[in-house]
Amino acid sequence: MDYHNFDLIIAGAGPVGCILAERTAREMGWKCLLIEKRSHVAGNCHDFIHESGLLLHHYGPHFFRTDRKSIVDYLSSYTEWIPGNYRVQASYREELFPLPINLTTLEKFFRCSLTPDSAQSLLRAERIEVNEPKNSEEYVLSRVGKKLYEAFYLGYTLKQWGIHPRELLPSVCGRLPIRFTREDRYVDELYQIMPKDGYTRLFERMLRHPLITVLLNTDFLKIRHLFKTAKAIVYTGPIDAYFDFCHGALSWRSLDFEWVEMNKPFQQPCVSINYPSEHDYTRSVEIKHVTGQKHARTVISHEYPHSGGDPFYPVLTEPNLSRYSLYRRLGEKETTEKAVYFCGRLATYSYLNMDEAMQNALDLCQVLKKRHHHD
Ligand SMILES: Cc1cc2nc3c(=O)[nH]c(=O)nc-3n(C[C@H](O)[C@H](O)[C@H](O)COP(=O)(O)OP(=O)(O)OC[C@H]3O[C@@H](n4cnc5c(N)ncnc54)[C@H](O)[C@@H]3O)c2cc1C
Repeated sequence: MDYHNFDLIIAGAGPVGCILAERTAREMGWKCLLIEKRSHVAGNCHDFIHESGLLLHHYGPHFFRTDRKSIVDYLSSYTEWIPGNYRVQASYREELFPLPINLTTLEKFFRCSLTPDSAQSLLRAERIEVNEPKNSEEYVLSRVGKKLYEAFYLGYTLKQWGIHPRELLPSVCGRLPIRFTREDRYVDELYQIMPKDGYTRLFERMLRHPLITVLLNTDFLKIRHLFKTAKAIVYTGPIDAYFDFCHGALSWRSLDFEWVEMNKPFQQPCVSINYPSEHDYTRSVEIKHVTGQKHARTVISHEYPHSGGDPFYPVLTEPNLSRYSLYRRLGEKETTEKAVYFCGRLATYSYLNMDEAMQNALDLCQVLKKRHHHD
């Protein structure tokens, strides 16, 4: 391959890399080389057909949800949609409780019937006053009190992150709302939908363009010296690796998946059951609830969190964020001096939902257009 022949080099074929390739090829007429370390495109959204014939999410369940109509419109050129049926429960005391916490959760947990008003009074009495919570433990105690914290948050967080909620920033456990209604959908966004044929098909269709070349099973960092003539480089891998870990390694949490096939149409009542205290795994996922497939058999996956392995979740502690800010500064210099742009989950050391990562990619396209339109 003639590596000198490309306008844009993109490292990583996740949602961000695919969108950048598609937009710059179509809108700017750029010739793009998309380099991916793994054997497939779609990044962590990758899904595949299991030997049973079931469509499975390779790297954990991916619920597409967004309030951004513009993103849904854009993706609709590459997929049809089916409704997302995202419902999650927690197993505790051998009972199942809806998550996020809602009126039904509170009634089952406190074994009483409640109205929205009496539920608010109950939680007011449970809460522990904390002025400006500094960590996840203080944040959760100040919102739901000790009993709910110990039942649904403490054990889950210890397993998921391998550290105490006291060491994590408030935002880590603050992602889930508390509801005083019976609403039991997992998320609140306006659009809760799934690509009809899966995420991988969607991104494969996006990349079908004569100006886009995809190179799989290739680590960009091992061949970066080859790209001297491109107008720009977009790097979506881990930012610390790009700079050879010169400020030390950023911490990530990863997951191992155990797949269990069963000879029955469904094993559990909803897509995910979380286990705050039982089992070594954090949750069991039956993705069939959201892919809408009809099949006589089912597959569930158990998720075992650990450190090392593929980077999945940034561990948001003060020391990690200080370290990241050193890398971000190096990244900004690289952007100004060498037109290397850092975009996406791994390159910005942030937990981004798909729609947020996609929006960042679309925003970066605007920056590229502005800076490089005379190149
Ligand atoms: C377990 C899990 C569950 C999730 N669930 C949801 C959900 O329900 N809803 C939601 O909206 N979001 C969810 N997300 C987030 C979602 O996966 C991300 O928003 C999205 O994948 C971000 O896209 P990206 O392109 O930035 O990164 P990625 O998808 O991580 O893609 C980056 C790609 O870069 C490649 N790469 C890295 N380094 C190199 C290199 N040196 N050379 C070549 N290639 C490289 C990687 O192999 C990877 O394929 C979840 C994430 C995880 C981990």
